[in-house]
Amino acid sequence: MTDSRNNKGAQGHLHPLTQIVREIVDSFVAMGFEVADGPEVESEHYNFDVLNVPKDHPSRDMQDTFWLKPSEDGSPNHSTSGVGLKGVSQTVLRTHTSSVQARYMETQKPPFKIIVPGKVFRCEATDATHEAQFHQIEGLVVGEGISLSHLQYTLNEFFKRLYGTQATIRFRPSFFPFVEPGVEVDVSCVKCSGKGCGMCKQTGFIEVMGAGMVHPNVLTASGIDPQKYRGFAFGMGVDRLVMLKYGIDDIRYLYSGDLRLVNQF
Ligand SMILES: [Zn+2]
Repeated sequence: MTDSRNNKGAQGHLHPLTQIVREIVDSFVAMGFEVADGPEVESEHYNFDVLNVPKDHPSRDMQDTFWLKPSEDGSPNHSTSGVGLKGVSQTVLRTHTSSVQARYMETQKPPFKIIVPGKVFRCEATDATHEAQFHQIEGLVVGEGISLSHLQYTLNEFFKRLYGTQATIRFRPSFFPFVEPGVEVDVSCVKCSGKGCGMCKQTGFIEVMGAGMVHPNVLTASGIDPQKYRGFAFGMGVDRLVMLKYGIDDIRYLYSGDLRLVNQF
């Protein structure tokens, strides 16, 4: 039996993940963002439907999403909101923090800027870069005259705060159902500062998040007039940012509770 008294005198501290979540949230709060929250057990409605994810989209597949069993009478086992009426919407463990977007937009009037930190879940085999549970941070800005350049400025500012003033970002065109246009965001390699090394596969950049302009269908589904308002959204995997920042090469270390890792921070 391990004698817990061996640790007598050792001082506890926050886990590196919690530390970086707080650091990221603080950066955005300093830029005027508000923190929003939502349930981890979510309806298909908020997780997919209102985000313009088609019924036949592969991300809804059993292999990616944890679906919760309906109750005996066939109604969805849904305890988090009034949505998810019988036969209409199933219940899932949220696959992204984007589910909070629509919940927030339904009740708030633009303009607003929110940041949403939280746990998300994917039905995946675990390896050095995949876990069934991980952390995301979602950002959403809606207002009049919002453009892609506002997104670029915000993210540029954020990565300079996180990785230092030498950090730069670049956009690459991409597709996500809930944004149009959509982009992948790369940040200059934290190890070689863009010169090229093994970690960035000699490209000088590392992919860190997806982002884009909020799709008009998403605004409409949340009761916001897309003719009047526009917005941008971004979502990043926090685990990956921690791994990059500290050179951790296996995501599973972050959840193992191993003090040999935790005590280094
Ligand atoms: Zn590099």
